[in-house]
Amino acid sequence: MSLVSHIEDLDLKDQRVFIRADLNVPIKDGKVADDYRILNALPTIRYALDQGAKIILASHLGRPEKPDARWSLAPVADTLSEILDVDVFFADELLSDVPLVISPSLKKNQLILLENLRFHPGEKLNDVDFAKELAKNVDVYVNDAFGVCHRKHASLSALPECVSKKCIGFLIQKEMEMLDRVRSNPIRPLTVVLGGAKVKDKFNVVLNLIDHIDHLVVGGAMAYVFLKAQGHNLGNTKVDLEDLSLAQELIERMQMRKKKLYLPLDHMVVPDIHRVDLLTNTPSAHVPDSWCAVDIGPQTCEYFSKAFETAKTIFWNGPMGLFEIPDYATGTRTIAENIGQCLSAFRVVGGGDSARAIFHFSLEKGFDHVSTGGGASLAYIQGSELPGLQSLESHKRSEAVV
Ligand code: ADP
Ligand code: MG
Repeated sequence: MSLVSHIEDLDLKDQRVFIRADLNVPIKDGKVADDYRILNALPTIRYALDQGAKIILASHLGRPEKPDARWSLAPVADTLSEILDVDVFFADELLSDVPLVISPSLKKNQLILLENLRFHPGEKLNDVDFAKELAKNVDVYVNDAFGVCHRKHASLSALPECVSKKCIGFLIQKEMEMLDRVRSNPIRPLTVVLGGAKVKDKFNVVLNLIDHIDHLVVGGAMAYVFLKAQGHNLGNTKVDLEDLSLAQELIERMQMRKKKLYLPLDHMVVPDIHRVDLLTNTPSAHVPDSWCAVDIGPQTCEYFSKAFETAKTIFWNGPMGLFEIPDYATGTRTIAENIGQCLSAFRVVGGGDSARAIFHFSLEKGFDHVSTGGGASLAYIQGSELPGLQSLESHKRSEAVV
């Protein structure tokens, strides 16, 4: 049973409800350029409005070290007000008395949005005094910012520690439900597909799932270190040799458990990443001297797809190539399409760049869940404790003791 309360468990009527959302959207020319994250935050905001809550909404935007107009949430206030058809009172000073003065008289179609939490140095430092200042105007705390739950920041950790009534919102609930279907007793066969850049970041995902994994597919830049460990020549391809021992360890662990490991059989290579015009397919997993690999090849796409055919659960993290360059995106797109066709499998994508690739190709319908959390979804699948969720558990634990 979950130790964390859900927003529907608490009475929100006339309560000052602090909603920590993830409204970290791209801003271009003073306007919201992509409202995907705002749309994801709406179910919780709407629910709280319907319940008669006095909402104080807060988020970070970008990585500013101090107040900086380029990272203001003001454009988000405009977009929110349009989409929700509500009045948004924007508190352009984070610790102003706007919540104190305005919140008691808020109507059902009004809410307060605080300026970027990261304008205050206390946010990233998880500063208790900053959290206490925020907590002064909070009766109920709601965390719905899944994408930052792995960060020990004041609005996610110290603040809920100061509040007794606290819970998760609808977005986090959905993320946990979907990711739990991968991390706890997934329906097997389970295929885990890893790509992207760093073995280190993904190593614990495999370790945590290793007893459940039936097929482990490794593509993208991280595959090169596995191939190196197996004695392949990789030409000029950048291979992260720091990760060589981790790759060797994973190969051994998979062998010991007689689990199938799929590595690329061929590559798309160029003499230099800017020479798109010279893109060529290799006949094997070796890369010719002075060439570098930028994507998986067609043989590999076909081979990897064998690991999807019988799967009942597929978890994918990490692109198969340097997909930001359209000519090098074929492997990533093909794998996304092939997973999309496995209708009898439960299919989840985690990871910021992987999710970006899926949306870029408009292939999100081929997945049961595209996680909104990059690092957070990986940390969750790894079985790590997320500070943003841990801080919501404490009062239930102490209640249990009493
Ligand atoms: P995610 O954010 O989905 O967890 P990562 O951050 O681990 O994924 O890796 C994504 C990055 O890996 C992308 O920027 C992509 O260009 C890069 N990448 C993947 N394959 C290759 C490759 N073969 N060569 C160079 N870069 C690659
Ligand atoms: Mg990434």
